[in-house]
Amino acid sequence: MSTASSKLNREPLQAADPEIYSTIAAETKRQQENLILIASENLVSRAVLEAQGSVLTNKYAEGYAGARYYGGCNCVDQAERLACERAGELFNAEHANVQPHSGTSANMAVFLAMLKPGDRILGMDLSHGGHLTHGSKVNISGRYYQSFSYKVEPGSCLLNLEEVRKVAHEVRPRLIIAGASSYPRRIDFEGFADIAREIGAIFLVDMAHTAGLVAAGVHPNPVLCSDIVTATTHKTFRGPRGGMIFCRHKYASEIDKAVFPGLQGGPLMHIIAAKAVAFKEAQLPDFVTYQENVLANASALAAALAELDFTLVTGGTDTHLVLVDLRNKDISGMEAEKLLEEVGIIVNKNVIPYDPRGANNPSGIRLGSPTLTSRGMTPEQMRQIAGLIEKTIASRFNSRNLDDVKRSVENICLEFPAY
Ligand SMILES: *Cc1c(COP(=O)(O)O)cnc(C)c1O
Repeated sequence: MSTASSKLNREPLQAADPEIYSTIAAETKRQQENLILIASENLVSRAVLEAQGSVLTNKYAEGYAGARYYGGCNCVDQAERLACERAGELFNAEHANVQPHSGTSANMAVFLAMLKPGDRILGMDLSHGGHLTHGSKVNISGRYYQSFSYKVEPGSCLLNLEEVRKVAHEVRPRLIIAGASSYPRRIDFEGFADIAREIGAIFLVDMAHTAGLVAAGVHPNPVLCSDIVTATTHKTFRGPRGGMIFCRHKYASEIDKAVFPGLQGGPLMHIIAAKAVAFKEAQLPDFVTYQENVLANASALAAALAELDFTLVTGGTDTHLVLVDLRNKDISGMEAEKLLEEVGIIVNKNVIPYDPRGANNPSGIRLGSPTLTSRGMTPEQMRQIAGLIEKTIASRFNSRNLDDVKRSVENICLEFPAY
């Protein structure tokens, strides 16, 4: 029997909202029972989950630590100070802002701080690996600013800095962006910095995908040679879903003002606390081992796929991600994504550079190693998974073979629990 009350419901989720409880339970099971190869996803630690689920969600804290527009901020100030200190140390940055709600918000804040509407920006073509927020016409970055793009080389699909230089000198943008969502190779940040300097442009690096690799020192750190760096905390970095910005002292106040009050109101203090936890985890030796294994696994996956006659865009990878061109396998990216999902292998369809099929039904799939590496998998499993991907695509009309693959996927998942 329940009596109406104005008091907060203290029932656990299972009793308070069985529908959402079972949805979360089902998603937990999905994450456990599938081989997740989405390059932008990862698994966070219990500690990160706990901080995200904490009462810090109750607190309004517009402003920055020590200068808030609300009373009662002493505890959350401590959380944000720790987050900023740890992040600054980790990336060797003069200034860190940990308030952006996402990677996209972080990029928007940089544009708001550094540009006027109509200014020119130059980023990597979306269909060649760039991100929506780097000037795509369907994004605010391509609508409020005049956006231009550079492409990868036909054939090799590698970035050629002489081409970038040529476009940069023609366009004379106010801001140049380096960084990508589906480019599997290292980017020459120093080379980009030279180009930006030649034309007096601001140089932004968006390391949304590679922040974890950078923090561990297994990928070049762009903070040292750029004006501003944005990142997400939830991809290779393995923290809560969110964004962050690093910059030189001289841009700090403009960047902070653009994040708040320019673009956001109250910061997500529970997420900022969880970011602080992730920064602490990233300072531990285990994190370096983890990121080394992320690279070793991506490279093993790439090598095994190549051996099975898959075409890899750029021929391989230096990062956590592999872009596969499926044209010689007589299957589209979309069909492959659907088919692989049926056997428990989760990937995303992806455009390849100069894709003849276009963005809606592209020719490629993108694979990444961060999530499976967090489950403890090694190059041995990567080779096995490459074989399962090959078998799935080759056996698309053979349900017995597909059932075999499903069983193999189940066995690997059981051996390497997600949580
Ligand atoms: C993922 C990504 C972002 C955006 O991150 P969200 O948190 O999804 O907004 C920005 N830039 C690049 C290069 C990305 O890969």
